[in-house]
Amino acid sequence: MERFTVCLTFDFDAISGWITTVGTRNPSMISRGEFGAFAIPRILALLDRYDIAASFAVPGHTAYAYPDEVRMIRDAGHEILHHGWMHENPSDLDEARERRVLEQGLEALHAVAGVVPAGYRSPAWDISPHTLGLLMEYGFFYDSSFMARDFHPYYLRDGDVISADGPYVFGREVELVEMPVAWQIVSHRMV
Ligand SMILES: [Zn+2]
Repeated sequence: MERFTVCLTFDFDAISGWITTVGTRNPSMISRGEFGAFAIPRILALLDRYDIAASFAVPGHTAYAYPDEVRMIRDAGHEILHHGWMHENPSDLDEARERRVLEQGLEALHAVAGVVPAGYRSPAWDISPHTLGLLMEYGFFYDSSFMARDFHPYYLRDGDVISADGPYVFGREVELVEMPVAWQIVSHRMV
């Protein structure tokens, strides 16, 4: 029987996802994001019990809100991915704003944990026409937002052309590896 390696990843959105993705500033709703930080020691203990190294996607806003938890993740030997500044959907942003969001996320992860992330996961799993170019410009090695495979990494394409009355035109392969993600554990529309 063929065996596959499965990588566990966690999106540590905390408060940021509720503010930006859900669009609330209600203290009760914000508390749901706080629970994410409260749960980090439990998740780390579980991973430690089974000796599993995982990856955590962390927005810059979360790093500043919960620096101790982010450093706990780092000190336990887990990987930290870029996950936006305040969990923005890149497809909602113009290029200048998307660039700034990318920089703010990088600045926060470095300031809090000394981390320069190799990977990026888009909040909302969505990208803009500029995202892949920006990721390569800022030196990212891989993305984990796409779902065209299950167990095997692959190179992403950029510049696909979609037209209403013509065939789909595949773009060119780019120097960015995709670690495809399966969205298995969802309890709310926000992820
Ligand atoms: Zn997220």
